[in-house]
Amino acid sequence: MEPQSSPTPHVLIFPLPVQGHVTPMLNLAELLCLSNLKVTFINSTHNHQRLTRYTNIESRFSGYPGFGFKTVPDGLPDDHPRAGDKSWLSELIQGLASSAKPVLSEIVVGAEAEAEAEAEKVTCLITDGWLSFANDVANEAEVPVIAVRCFSACCLWAFLCMPNLIHLGEIPFKDNEEMDELVKNVPGMDSFLRYRDLPSYCRTKDIPTCRQLQHLFTGEMQQIQKAHSFILNTFDDLEGPILSHIRQHCSSSRVYSIGPLHAHLKYRLGPNEITISKPNNSSSNLWEVDRSCISWLDQKPDKSVVYVSFGSITILTKEQLMEFWAGLVHSKKYFLWVIRPDLIIGSTSSESLKLLEGTKERGCMVGWAPQEEVLAHRAVGGFLTHSGWNSTLESIVAGVPMLCWPYFADQQVNSRYVSEVWRIGLDMKDTCDRTIVMNMINDLMDKKKDELERSMRKISDLANKSVSQGGSSYSNLDHLIEEIKAMSN
Ligand code: UDP
Repeated sequence: MEPQSSPTPHVLIFPLPVQGHVTPMLNLAELLCLSNLKVTFINSTHNHQRLTRYTNIESRFSGYPGFGFKTVPDGLPDDHPRAGDKSWLSELIQGLASSAKPVLSEIVVGAEAEAEAEAEKVTCLITDGWLSFANDVANEAEVPVIAVRCFSACCLWAFLCMPNLIHLGEIPFKDNEEMDELVKNVPGMDSFLRYRDLPSYCRTKDIPTCRQLQHLFTGEMQQIQKAHSFILNTFDDLEGPILSHIRQHCSSSRVYSIGPLHAHLKYRLGPNEITISKPNNSSSNLWEVDRSCISWLDQKPDKSVVYVSFGSITILTKEQLMEFWAGLVHSKKYFLWVIRPDLIIGSTSSESLKLLEGTKERGCMVGWAPQEEVLAHRAVGGFLTHSGWNSTLESIVAGVPMLCWPYFADQQVNSRYVSEVWRIGLDMKDTCDRTIVMNMINDLMDKKKDELERSMRKISDLANKSVSQGGSSYSNLDHLIEEIKAMSN
């Protein structure tokens, strides 16, 4: 009798349909494909159209016969801007829950029913935190869930401690003066985390909001504990102590720290197929990349340019735009600034760009940059960032010190860690004044440059080691893949 071959695991991946989640999950998808797993990636229809319009996404995955896309509606009207005040994110999550849920159900159950061979059955669903309905769909179909959070471990830990902070009366805080006081009940952070560094949703004085938070984060904890296992896009040498707290707290599911996800491919694909100067992450852009900034950077001296980008969701008022602009101009540094078409409240990007006319000789403005490539460019010496987790990891891998202006969600905690724990940047939290911008850019690029670069070099080396053979994230990813294979047997 011939020995039976093991069935090929079939993984469904369903991220929250926003750039900062789609990019790392596509990287994870590619890493699983490289290990010969079958992967179905679920995009919102809206994002899928953008991905195919602005990237070579089909060709990126054409070498993986087991890879495929499916789409689900996001529940928002076609003409919804999917931008603006962050309340649109709640609309998106609600829209998905009502419109995507039945389609996801069909995909999960359909994939099982249509399976001609055992090899095609769905092995597991890898999904994001905000999509609790996706967990319900998987539970109903008895498909195991592997939970992913696309933010830092330090922010997740603060989230998980929230019910206790509320229970102990630390939240809601009473007045603005408390914002600079230390938070007492987030173990591992009690010597440096201030109320102003808590995740944006949690910086509240409002009791009903606290009740909602308590409910939300208790649910978050239960979701992680119920999951078969749990993935974080971070690495042990960066967030080891906090990961230990999370591992103790979530003892029922295995926690895999496998980041920085975007850096793995370089080591797994080998230097002939991918290089740091031409990363394939460009294949997940939801905006059209303007590569003219690379030739602009080519003309500039080493480490002379400040790269300015506030990610894919942050918005600015015209006043904030002008403060940043004046601070950048008065710093007398070169700057490359990403002005997304929807970055400025109540203004089109061409109006915003017009506002900035006259800065051409020092500044270059683009609608969307090839960020990894920009950060790896020899001319870039600092990154003025909103401290999104992907941007933070990309800056670390490229070894570029940061000036942080956090906007929401995990960004407040991330920027505190950048400045106070890892000491690889400066935190400009809650201020947006031209003189402060100017002074802090000068600190970043001149006065504090050497000390920031020294600590950044160490952490950047650790990041690169973690994803190279024998490194913690490299091994953790291998273990995760083994576990998925074992699930399909
Ligand atoms: N990004 C990019 N070009 C830009 C601005 C951003 O490629 O001009 C990418 C960036 O490299 C990162 C993602 O968009 O991978 C933003 O994710 P992050 O977690 O930093 O912030 P979010 O957009 O979720 O707030």
